[in-house]
Amino acid sequence: MIALHGRTALVTGGSRGIGRAVVVMLARAGADVAFGYRSRAAEAEAVADEVTALGRRALALAGDLADPSAAERMAAGVAKAFGRLDIFVANAGIWPPDEVPIGRLTPERWRATMAANLDAIYHSTRAALGLMGPGGRIVLVSSTAGQRGEAGHADYAATKGAVIALTKSLAVEYAPDILVNCVAPGWVDTEMSASAFGGSEKARIAGTIPLRRIPSAEEIAGPIVFLCSDLASHVTGEVLNVNGGSVLCG
Ligand code: NAP
Repeated sequence: MIALHGRTALVTGGSRGIGRAVVVMLARAGADVAFGYRSRAAEAEAVADEVTALGRRALALAGDLADPSAAERMAAGVAKAFGRLDIFVANAGIWPPDEVPIGRLTPERWRATMAANLDAIYHSTRAALGLMGPGGRIVLVSSTAGQRGEAGHADYAATKGAVIALTKSLAVEYAPDILVNCVAPGWVDTEMSASAFGGSEKARIAGTIPLRRIPSAEEIAGPIVFLCSDLASHVTGEVLNVNGGSVLCG
């Protein structure tokens, strides 16, 4: 049902976790896929090999997207390799694991989270839009933290709430040509959240989720790829909750 043959895609943070699962799923659906990563070249190379083995073109592009010139270089690499861009998934992000109330949250941590989770989306989305035209799809990755807040992680929650506001703004700005949606996962089994899953914590957290388990990265990638597909041709400005029922909103 989902066929993306002949389409080109760019996924930020594609070297591991949710981004990696999206890259591979898009390639399985037929797309040529470029992806960004910050520093882990070996992981990125392995993902590129996986895409190539599926018979699709792959392109791994290193750079810290908090830097506007890195975002421009990423887009230039896509333009050179693919000529145009049909699908953009802004997935890269960080979750500083230390739980700190805002009174003790340092300006350095605040700025670092804003840079990685919000400035990076601004820079990379602007750069990607320069390669996109009618029929394009953008999916921004938010979090339940952006919907209900996250005590001890106000910086992270603020960036993820902003991603939802950006989604709705861009959906109208770029209608009817480009559909812009958002996916908001709850807890996901990736390296990002591993530090929170020590001891019996993983089982305890799973118990708070109505579906009673922590999903895999692939279970978040599926809804993202759906929003990139023709099955979602009349969906824009939407926040798709992928949280096992833990936050019922919207
Ligand atoms: P992850 O496993 O930690 O992977 C993060 C990816 O983003 C990596 O590819 C990393 O590159 C890249 N990255 C991070 N900062 C970057 C920067 N400044 N510039 C360029 N690339 C950067 O994360 P994940 O769990 O898959 O999370 C993906 C998205 O889902 C994030 O936006 C996150 O906030 C959101 N999310 C995750 C969860 C969860 O429980 N995991 C829940 C809700 C929402 P390197 O490998 O080179 O470092």
